[in-house]
Amino acid sequence: MGRQGLNPDPPLHVFFFPFMASGHLIPISDMARLFSVRGCRSTLISTPANEPVLSRSIQTTRKSGHEIDVVIVNLPLQEVGLSPEHGDLKNLPKNDLDARDKFFRAVRLLERQLEGLLEEHRPDCLVSDMFLPWTTDVAAKFGIPRIVFHGTGNFPLAAGECVRLYEPHKKVSSDTEPFLIPELPGEITLTRSKLPDFIREETPFTKFFNEVKESERRSFGVVVNSFYELEPVYVDYYRNGLGRRTWQIGPLLLCNKGEEDKTFRGDQASIDCEKCLSWLDSREPSSVVYVCFGSMASFNPAQLQEIAVGLESSGQNFIWVVKKDPDVEEGKEEWLPEGYEERMGGRGLIIRGWAPQVLILEHVAVGAFVTHCGWNSTLEGISCGVAMVTWPVAAEQFYNEKLVTEVLKVGVPVGVKQWIRGTGDWISEESVEKAVRRVMEGEEGEGLRRRAKGLSEMARRAVEEGGSSYADFYRLMDDLRGAKRHIS
Ligand code: UDP
Repeated sequence: MGRQGLNPDPPLHVFFFPFMASGHLIPISDMARLFSVRGCRSTLISTPANEPVLSRSIQTTRKSGHEIDVVIVNLPLQEVGLSPEHGDLKNLPKNDLDARDKFFRAVRLLERQLEGLLEEHRPDCLVSDMFLPWTTDVAAKFGIPRIVFHGTGNFPLAAGECVRLYEPHKKVSSDTEPFLIPELPGEITLTRSKLPDFIREETPFTKFFNEVKESERRSFGVVVNSFYELEPVYVDYYRNGLGRRTWQIGPLLLCNKGEEDKTFRGDQASIDCEKCLSWLDSREPSSVVYVCFGSMASFNPAQLQEIAVGLESSGQNFIWVVKKDPDVEEGKEEWLPEGYEERMGGRGLIIRGWAPQVLILEHVAVGAFVTHCGWNSTLEGISCGVAMVTWPVAAEQFYNEKLVTEVLKVGVPVGVKQWIRGTGDWISEESVEKAVRRVMEGEEGEGLRRRAKGLSEMARRAVEEGGSSYADFYRLMDDLRGAKRHIS
């Protein structure tokens, strides 16, 4: 029996407010389901554009009798000059900073609607995304704690905070001169070219990001999609060195037990899942490389051609997920070399659009993952025990690359040198081929996979009864009940 069976108190009602982008929505909806399965009442706040995704993902939890709901807020897109199809960050025109700015403005305008919902439902706690810093004050108005969810791990959180506070990038003479990240345990070096644009120089987003950090300090604490054994030094440093109260309750994706949960996680898959699984069934164990760059990155046709040729020359089986480029006309596929798919025969499967990522990564046939190092993808790769080729694009992905390649030693870098939002740095076909061969062939690949499998077992133990994330979850419950008693 889990601990929820022992608790005489009425269930806590927790509101979850995700940011409107897949990398934030997916783990928050996993989290809401976890809370609900463990005896809380969960309510997810959604915009109409994200509602189908969230409703689909919670259906099995609800069907099994747990309390979980979705309530709607309307993003005032027209008010800020955006159109209705821009209801998710990934649908904005690529590299259009003005549109991005407007999107954040629309999100900021949700304050009144959130107040209305809190007034009506009177939950016990608000778990909200880092990109909603103003929710700390809204929660305070209703006398409830706000918990921040960043979507990323302790290593990137700590590394990013050390760079923000100590500004080592201002003390080097060029974008390519390496510097040590001050105070961060483990002697981690980086270059200015790998830092986010808003850290490299002052932009309107810098001010917003500082607000995010300030609101985090004033919040009840930070809930992290990670587990202690993965990054113990950095969990401790974020808590003790940087003074944040945190609860490590991941990997959240492991709350998806059945095939149905994994199939309905995120957007609608662009491939028949059964077809995809039977394709994998017909391969040898650890003989397929899975290539996917998350929900936001989209490479230009020339870069996609390099990937195609690199994968072909690597001689490996592969599943390659290619996102539709919002700036390229429907139906145009100039990125695919002439006769490519016929030439690949049964060796390569291209998914155009959305892949059932966790279903694929969990399959025994998958041995390696070429990833952009979004935190969810990184943790999914780790939880599924695959070796990784790291290909960071933007956000905090360069920190995640360091964790994977230098701290955990479960992956090799493809060789990206520069942080470029959306489109990424240029990588040649030779680099793709070389990195894929390194993780798939010989002793090096085996060693990476062995370590990754070890981490995967630790991850699974962490979320089971008696594991570290299981214990931290109930510590969070105790802290929330304590806060509730204190307030009432
Ligand atoms: N994802 C997926 N299918 C895709 C692309 C992405 O299921 O075709 C999921 C992936 O499993 C992960 C999330 O979308 O859970 C992407 O989050 P991540 O942090 O890796 O990257 P982001 O999209 O935020 O850059």
